[in-house]
Amino acid sequence: MKSLADVDLHELQSALHDAALPESHALRLLLAYYKQNGVINTDALQLGAPATALFNDLLSTTHTTVAARHVSSDGTVKLLLSLRAGGTVEAVLMPSYHDTRAAGCLSSQVGCAMGCDFCASTRGGLERNLTAGEIVEQFLHLRREAATQGRRLNTVVFMGMGEPMHNLDAVATAIRRVTVPPFNLIAKRGVTVSTVGIVPGIERLASMDLNVHLALSLHAPDDETRSKLIPSNKRWKVADVMDAAKRFSESTGRVVTIEYTLLAGVNDSDAQARELSRVMHGFRAHVNLIPYNPIGPGLSGVTYEKPSVDRIERFRTILTDANVVTHVRQTRGDDVNAACGQLRHRATTLPIASV
Ligand code: SAH
Repeated sequence: MKSLADVDLHELQSALHDAALPESHALRLLLAYYKQNGVINTDALQLGAPATALFNDLLSTTHTTVAARHVSSDGTVKLLLSLRAGGTVEAVLMPSYHDTRAAGCLSSQVGCAMGCDFCASTRGGLERNLTAGEIVEQFLHLRREAATQGRRLNTVVFMGMGEPMHNLDAVATAIRRVTVPPFNLIAKRGVTVSTVGIVPGIERLASMDLNVHLALSLHAPDDETRSKLIPSNKRWKVADVMDAAKRFSESTGRVVTIEYTLLAGVNDSDAQARELSRVMHGFRAHVNLIPYNPIGPGLSGVTYEKPSVDRIERFRTILTDANVVTHVRQTRGDDVNAACGQLRHRATTLPIASV
């Protein structure tokens, strides 16, 4: 059974055509559906009984329901979404410093196969890919959440659970659905797809002409360190993922973000900061330093720690002195386990109050 999040304008027009109903109803319905973030009263649209019945059918089917909602003291809202097809995922809304805007973090898979040692999402392995409709519904849940705060969801990042490049068709379909005119729920430049460094995926994303941003989870400038943290580094090494990111940037004109989770004593030394500057040399990309959020021991049994404020600052200074544009990401929502790497679904959830 389809949900309205599964169909685009063209498909809805065809459905109406097949039912001998006016195709023009499709645009009115979808405009209302998106404007009201998935919750609408079709009677108010006055489309006539047969079209209303057809639409109510589509609307009665939703893939996701909010199973739990956690609000952090910093305003971050974490939604645990229960999926009709099985499993749960989390989606996070982060209020921006600009008081009319918010950023969202979306999941692309239930669980994750990548096995990165410092990330909680991968602990239970991969359960399944999300469908495009499930991703669109996540987006609408966050957009509704933002609206209740008087904010507009103007950026989203695929940095929740899962590896988007392993589910790129559904991710791309969902992105198209929310960015396409006349709906324009969000600008393409407001969307970032984050990858652990699946090179063919980066190449495909560049060729899709989606016009979104790319974030590359680098986390170490040398193969020895990176291979310990990220199993896929054995397949695509630092040089391979950086080359792919550069090609992405050249072909799309987008500035790439290099994500670097700082782990005390593992990847936060002066030498590693200098090596990162070297790897970044000549590449017009930004480095986003993410202080590690504790998740307990990793799959390897190693327990990581967040570096001190001074160490983080020193690491940043080495990069900025080498003319690398660097930001330190503010930790958001860590009191409700919604910070980076802390997203995990119910089955593998350690104590999160009331989940
Ligand atoms: N699979 C994709 C998207 C999900 S990860 C990717 O790897 O990019 C989103 C970001 O959160 C990545 O940069 C990831 O490495 C980072 N992250 C994961 N666990 C973290 C933790 N415990 N603390 C801080 N950042 C973490």
